[in-house]
Amino acid sequence: MWGQGIIKGLRVTARNFFGSYFHKSRLVTVEYPEQKRPTPENNRNFPFLVYDGDDPEKGLRCVACKICEKECPPQCIYIVPEKDERGRPRKHPHLFDIDISVCMSCQICVEVCPFDAIKMDQEYELSRSNRFEGLLLHKRDLAKPNAYYRQIHPTEASLVDAELEQARQQQAAKEKPAAGATAGPGQPPQ
Ligand code: SF4
Ligand code: SF4
Repeated sequence: MWGQGIIKGLRVTARNFFGSYFHKSRLVTVEYPEQKRPTPENNRNFPFLVYDGDDPEKGLRCVACKICEKECPPQCIYIVPEKDERGRPRKHPHLFDIDISVCMSCQICVEVCPFDAIKMDQEYELSRSNRFEGLLLHKRDLAKPNAYYRQIHPTEASLVDAELEQARQQQAAKEKPAAGATAGPGQPPQ
């Protein structure tokens, strides 16, 4: 029947309008920015760097291997590894920038990272008052604690934590016999 779609739409609007006086679930809008809807766990937009412990610099999981930089389709990641006194690269980023105005939120950087060092964020209030700052995020903007990762993606983060713990235990078990072998003759392993 002609106009059936319009009548259906009006019926839905009326049901929500009058229903909102009786059921909170019918209130489909919130007064943003004072009120914000909880973000679903699977929501993702741009990457951030995870760090362990309290130090956002020392605790960074990133080892500056540059795999994510190579694999990023629009090439919006820029990494410069730290150098030691002889100019050899250290396993730590000196610079780690992501231009989120170019990032297409594909999550490939997350999938290729062998160290679970980069994950997808849910932060959406990213506008800047200074136009010269742009949307180029630096290491200090990107570094966020593992506790934050657990808060926004609890299921995924608990799996990652379990895998990392297992890897740590395996590494410790591998190192034990080596430590025992270094003990002197007649001395018990440390
Ligand atoms: S985030 Fe991961 S893949 Fe990218 S440089 Fe760091 S360790 Fe390598
Ligand atoms: S989400 Fe995709 S586009 Fe964005 S930085 Fe990662 S690999 Fe690049």
